[in-house]
Amino acid sequence: MQIVVEELDSYSCKMSTKVEKVFEDLRRETYEKTSNPGMQVGAVEGRFLRLLVLMTGARRVLEVGTFTGYSALMMASALPDDGVLFTLDRDKFTNAIAKKYFERVPFGSKITTIVGDAREKIRTIEAPIEFAFIDADKESYDIYYEAALKLLPSGGMMALDNTLWSGEVLDPKDHASRSIDTINKKIAKDKRVEAVLLTVRDGVTLVRKK
Ligand code: SAH
Ligand code: CA
Repeated sequence: MQIVVEELDSYSCKMSTKVEKVFEDLRRETYEKTSNPGMQVGAVEGRFLRLLVLMTGARRVLEVGTFTGYSALMMASALPDDGVLFTLDRDKFTNAIAKKYFERVPFGSKITTIVGDAREKIRTIEAPIEFAFIDADKESYDIYYEAALKLLPSGGMMALDNTLWSGEVLDPKDHASRSIDTINKKIAKDKRVEAVLLTVRDGVTLVRKK
């Protein structure tokens, strides 16, 4: 199930602020060289993440799930001069593409890539993280949610991607859909946070730590 009608997604993109050419190049290379390019955040969602980093004024950002670096680069473009973004992924091939693009633009130097299993590596990140974006294996969302929540100060924000999972959350049949449905239900009644599940692209849950 495609949640947002394609024509409207394209219209939304056109009616949003233009971004640097590097993003178009990175999208093209991702479609040429990787087997699952649809994992990359959409153009509208990318701009949304960038605006969230600007709005929160975050100086230290964490991403779980780098892939070829599109979302990391979008968020890094909104960081202040002394800002840093840590991004975790275990795939060396896609990480090499990401690093190549991070070197192309000045704001790319704010990104530190950490290669390995994010379920372990997330423990090495030091607080505070003012904004976290969770987008790796759906089965581990609960681990990432708890770890990121610990790193956020009061008022810190987190976004979790794909929380509508192509609509499969309505009738979860496999491990990934069940995990997403479980974390969604947990967040909805979690007293530690204020949250909203937005119907942006494949579902983006925004969480603010109390
Ligand atoms: N945010 C990216 C897309 C991430 S796709 C973008 O917008 O371009 C999900 C990524 O999570 C994949 O690159 C995959 O390698 C990574 N991943 C999945 N499970 C992981 C794990 N346990 N540890 C580290 N990375 C993982
Ligand atoms: Ca995603």
